[in-house]
Amino acid sequence: MKLSELHTGETGVIAKVTGHGGFRKRIVEMGFIKGQEVEVLLNAPLKDPVKYKVMGYEVSLRHSEAALIEVVTEEEARLMEAEEARRQQPEASAPSDGQAPGTADTQVSDPAKHDDTPVTPAHHMSDTALKAAAINRSKVINVALVGNPNCGKTSLFNFVSGAHENVGNYSGVTVDAKEGYVERDGYKFNLVDLPGTYSLSAYSPEELYVRKQLIEKSPDIVINVIDASNIERNLYLTTQLIDMHVRMVVALNMFDETRKRGDNVNYQKLSELFGVPMLPTVFTSGEGVDELFRMVIKTYEATEDNEPTFRHIHINHGHEIEHGIADIQEHLKQEPYLREVYSTRFLAIKLLEKDKDVEDYIRTLPDAEEILRHRDETAARVLEETKIDAETAVMDAKYGFIHGALQEASYSTGKKRDTYKITHLLDSILTNRLAGFPIFLIVLCVMFFATFWLGQYPMDWIDAGVAWLGEELGALLPEGPVKAMLIDGVIGGVGSVIVFLPQILILYFFISFMEDSGYMSRAAFIMDRIMHKMGLHGKSFIPLIMGFGCNVPAIMATRTIESRRSRLVTMLILPMMSCEARIPIYVLIVGTFFSLQVQWLVMMSLYAIGILMAAIMSKLFTKVLIKGEDTPFVMELPPYRFPTAKAVTRHTWEKGKQYLKKMGGIILVASIIVWALGYFPHDDSLPAQQQQEQSYIGRIGKAVEPVFRPQGFNWKLDVGLFAGVAAKEVVASTLGVIYAGDDTIADGDDTADMSKYERLHHLITTDIAQQHNLSLTAAAPIATLTAYCFLLFVLLYFPCIATIAAIKAESGSWKWAFFAACYTTVLAWGVSALVFQIGMLFIG
Ligand code: GDP
Ligand code: MG
Repeated sequence: MKLSELHTGETGVIAKVTGHGGFRKRIVEMGFIKGQEVEVLLNAPLKDPVKYKVMGYEVSLRHSEAALIEVVTEEEARLMEAEEARRQQPEASAPSDGQAPGTADTQVSDPAKHDDTPVTPAHHMSDTALKAAAINRSKVINVALVGNPNCGKTSLFNFVSGAHENVGNYSGVTVDAKEGYVERDGYKFNLVDLPGTYSLSAYSPEELYVRKQLIEKSPDIVINVIDASNIERNLYLTTQLIDMHVRMVVALNMFDETRKRGDNVNYQKLSELFGVPMLPTVFTSGEGVDELFRMVIKTYEATEDNEPTFRHIHINHGHEIEHGIADIQEHLKQEPYLREVYSTRFLAIKLLEKDKDVEDYIRTLPDAEEILRHRDETAARVLEETKIDAETAVMDAKYGFIHGALQEASYSTGKKRDTYKITHLLDSILTNRLAGFPIFLIVLCVMFFATFWLGQYPMDWIDAGVAWLGEELGALLPEGPVKAMLIDGVIGGVGSVIVFLPQILILYFFISFMEDSGYMSRAAFIMDRIMHKMGLHGKSFIPLIMGFGCNVPAIMATRTIESRRSRLVTMLILPMMSCEARIPIYVLIVGTFFSLQVQWLVMMSLYAIGILMAAIMSKLFTKVLIKGEDTPFVMELPPYRFPTAKAVTRHTWEKGKQYLKKMGGIILVASIIVWALGYFPHDDSLPAQQQQEQSYIGRIGKAVEPVFRPQGFNWKLDVGLFAGVAAKEVVASTLGVIYAGDDTIADGDDTADMSKYERLHHLITTDIAQQHNLSLTAAAPIATLTAYCFLLFVLLYFPCIATIAAIKAESGSWKWAFFAACYTTVLAWGVSALVFQIGMLFIG
């Protein structure tokens, strides 16, 4: 428990002091050392300070400070002991080696006794036993993995924890912090795999996130993973971690590549220069991992500044800036609460870098004005003297430091071109100005062809399976609303979604393969110029492609986009990418109203219009709605690697899972709601069509009919659109029910039974003829036009509840989700009305 949680008169033994280096040092100097007993002399709740007795002295701390100290109380120690006994229960018959700490002085003579009853708290624990328990508790080390994208963090995480993580070759694959744990050498390590970042500035959500994690979670040790084949740039982050004064160990990863290349570096020397232990590692094979963990333990147990490779250095930023840092620090140090959480030097440097996040924080302090004045003075002086701004000066100083350190550690690169020969050769073709784009288009065509053609087979099987299930269940259950709900609502609704899973998985397999091999980064690179014309970045391209599968995982994939502005716009235009769910409506309507020869053309036109609208909207949004500077960022071109089957499978699954989640949750609920609206009020005596008409959904359809008059839609089509708000998959089946009293009409692939299409054609055309007061033949072209406008509307309007929820979650506000829902619907309304009215001019 935390020291701050102890009451007056209670005692505990210190297990761990957390927080940044400066804070720990101060606390340790006061006598709060691991294994020491602390007694609370006076702890008034909500009243600072608290008085403690440690090492015979009276010391006072604030609650917030005491909260950073972990202690073990006698009660806790006993629980731990009981836990331990229970754990060893299965091997109780085997004599223990007697070295388990804490067992010697206590009454655990017969472990069997503790099977289900906790140890009786009658005895008083000896000091040694309590200390041993504290030491035991301290053997839990919280480790955070920090490093640039693609340096191998996730590989290490997977290697040691055996967790299922994506190992991607596309920068930014790890977007969430994943947690896992390992036990090694008697210690337990809680690992967290943080997103890749190039620096700890507040440019991207990832950077801010990593920074927050480091400050708020305050891991005991940071493993800073470095791509040693790109050491100079990777060390930049290390220098920032040094500013933050975290305890860390550096893994010089990809050492195999540097070895192959013939690089040379005296890493021992480099460790001393940085004051941080550094070790060569290869996480793909596990080389160096044992040493790395041993080093983590050693650093964790060591005292700072006792060894050349474990000391806190100050990177010299030059006279002016250092002067400014000192001035700012002087004020910051007067803020007691701030000092516990932040290294003041780090804050001062960030301020000089004009870090917005830190600036906002500083403004909440009473001294804010004074502090910012110092900052501005320093920045002005730096600019005056060196003609560069403070931010650049800080960066230059850091690179200068790195460069110097590398020089001193006799760093030299070997025959650089050799390792990347294949990559360079491939890049000269694949990103070639002339050849790159056509090649990419071919790849895209292959991808989409495979998705739709190959996917058709498993799709048919699943379809048959769902139909079989419905029939079997139908035969089993008695007639009534429960049966109707299960078959039409649950199986019908979810079944219409699950059939797309194969196609989506195939599409995501291609995307994962491209990401893992490194080609996706090139695709982004190739697309960058085109995307810039839309006001976006190359990186937006990948989520947009994913959107053709399902918009939900695509929205999540926008996390890799550094700039918030581009990210938001990408999310907003994503619904224009025609997802799989819209296909059954296309198939149904296109099959009904267009001849075989032009069907594919109509389909293509829908996809093309979607993309065009996305481009126009994106341009508009970046110009008008979300203005502001975009932060430039590096487009990494990692070396090509042949992806492992394991990685691609996992990666594909990770994406597909989002789709399944959507199905299990929102679609299930929505299907039931849509079913209920169409079922109630129920009158068994009516035929299915009339039943639909007088149901709630029918009434809603009729009520909104005037709104869709400019598009030529009738109330039945409106009902389809309304049902599609839940999920677009539902539109086709709803139309099937409402028009034919038969939802099998929605099974578009059932081409053998053409009469269904003919029947639907006849029914819709009859309706439209009535609506326009025309004969059936005269109404035919209008019906076709109406049908096309209906498709346009389906393409563009309200994406689906799951997508809107995803936008809310990713943008962090309902505002944008609401906006996306509205603008798409307004756009759909406008475009379809326009096309209908113009079309009518030609027909009429
Ligand atoms: P992260 O972005 O830092 O999590 O990096 P990943 O763990 O996803 O690794 C990126 C790529 O580098 C993957 O293709 C890994 O297989 C590869 N990789 C990781 N460690 C090494 C290494 O030590 N040597 C080599 N040659 N490749 C590695
Ligand atoms: Mg990763």
